[in-house]
Amino acid sequence: AENVEHMSFQAEAKQLLKLMIHSLYSNKEIFLRELISNASDAADKLRFEGLSDAALYESDPDLKIRVAYDKQARTITISDNGIGMSRQEVIDNVGTIAKSGTREFFNSLTGDQAKDAHLIGQFGVGFYSAFIVADKVTLTTRRAGLTAEHGVRWESKGEGEFTLETVTKQDRGTEVVLHLRAEEDEFLNGFKLHSIIRRYSDHITLPIVMKKEEWDEESKDYRIGDEDETINQASAIWARPKNEITPEQYDEFYKHVGHDFEPPLAYVHAKVEGKQEYTQLLYIPSHAPFDLFDREHRHGVKLYVKRVFIMDDAEKLLPGYLRFVRGVIDSNDLPLNVSREILQESKDIDSIRAGSVKKILGLIEELASSDQSENQEKFRTFWKEFGQVLKEGVAEDFANRERIAKLLRFVSTHDERAEQMVSLDDYIARMKPEQDKIYYITADGLKAAQSSPHLEIFRKKGIEVLLLCDRIDEWLVAHLHEYAGKPLQSVAKGDLDLGKLADEEEKKAQEKEAGDFQDLATKMKEILSEQVKDVRITFRLTESPACLVADLHDMGGNLERLLKSAGQ
Ligand code: ADP
Ligand code: MG
Repeated sequence: AENVEHMSFQAEAKQLLKLMIHSLYSNKEIFLRELISNASDAADKLRFEGLSDAALYESDPDLKIRVAYDKQARTITISDNGIGMSRQEVIDNVGTIAKSGTREFFNSLTGDQAKDAHLIGQFGVGFYSAFIVADKVTLTTRRAGLTAEHGVRWESKGEGEFTLETVTKQDRGTEVVLHLRAEEDEFLNGFKLHSIIRRYSDHITLPIVMKKEEWDEESKDYRIGDEDETINQASAIWARPKNEITPEQYDEFYKHVGHDFEPPLAYVHAKVEGKQEYTQLLYIPSHAPFDLFDREHRHGVKLYVKRVFIMDDAEKLLPGYLRFVRGVIDSNDLPLNVSREILQESKDIDSIRAGSVKKILGLIEELASSDQSENQEKFRTFWKEFGQVLKEGVAEDFANRERIAKLLRFVSTHDERAEQMVSLDDYIARMKPEQDKIYYITADGLKAAQSSPHLEIFRKKGIEVLLLCDRIDEWLVAHLHEYAGKPLQSVAKGDLDLGKLADEEEKKAQEKEAGDFQDLATKMKEILSEQVKDVRITFRLTESPACLVADLHDMGGNLERLLKSAGQ
């Protein structure tokens, strides 16, 4: 037809789809979970926009998801009456497989099938999981608020191209038809579909309906009737008593809110009563999303008021340094028409936020301090994936600074392990009796830190030094001046006064030696007057003849380099 426009996916798309079909095939029924999850998100979006524009509901206010199958046509259809999509939205959301991070994703592929399957699970392919079982997918949609002639039909065989067509669609929302691959007939079965929906999508809060089936004696088969039945519980999982929720149900709910294929690392589910009443079900993912450091990142915590969805990713609910947390917060006190603007001002939100931060920090502390190896392993994973982000909290969250500092982990000269595993408490427990400071060095990388001449005197005296090599560390120590009453001191800054750690006799000998070399130092300072501020005699070196030091109040060398590279 004239109306049909042919378009191509990005270059990586074909490869990505092939890889996905291959690696997710052993768990292929998840396609239904993904499509239902999208339908549910579309209903949430309609609810949110409907708060300010009730006309979007048209004459059809009962939001639901329908699943149907047709044995003759060999299709499965998932339809919703959610927000729908405009033509441009279809191009942007469904015509673009490669989301942010795709390039990084491809770079991280190893060629090892098991590892890559794990990676693709982390990347999340959502809608495209339809192609695991379908060799053609037809999506027809019409955005709420647009007229029936503004329907759009998208169709693809998942081989690099798709077509777009303008159609008339009476009902608002989206319908996805999967034309099953030859070998996937098992899905053309009501029982099978019921059991997949119950298993993966029970927690979806709106009804997922199918037509009831009746046994037909004549054809000796089930016949699809006219009456609807709801397949899922359609109740908010977080509102149920904890002991009625299975670990699998917690996991499946996470995969929906977290847009993740992998189960979470840990969760906390709590009901808070008193002045403020709210329920929180918050998860820590088991891996960082590809866009953790992308300012445009999304999919955080959903806000509900009395079980009614209000908004996605309400940034006021958690501070930036906990942006990796996923889940829901359901308030009993906020007004149903709460907007982002109201949230900005709301005292209620401030206390919900403070309570949620406490819960998450508590959850991390639990993992960190557990003597069970399973939890210790989880904490290591947590630190590896999110430690960098948590460090931001030292600067961002003054009230919880000490608590966050307690969770920090570093590499140190104590055992030279490359993995960050030394806590400040570990360090303090190993401090020399006369030592009153926590010593650290910042550097561009672990090698640079380890070979720094600044460490010589500390090695000689057996004093532990923390090796801070992450980009954010300079920022971290700029905000963390002390921990448990012990000041943090850079070994590369100022006059290194080892205080009581240097004994009296040693000091006297040094003073004499310093006198002997003073002339040399003065000469050198004259010669180097353009390059350096001062030349000092030091006893901090044991092997290297000289080293560069920053003034106590100057920027550290690493921060200076960082600012320079940022053009400052
Ligand atoms: P994600 O759900 O993580 O955003 P998906 O691949 O599952 O990723 O979906 C991609 C996008 O396509 C969604 O973000 C949404 O904008 C759009 N989309 C998919 N299904 C629907 C639907 N049923 N109704 C409206 N929009 C949809
Ligand atoms: Mg999705």
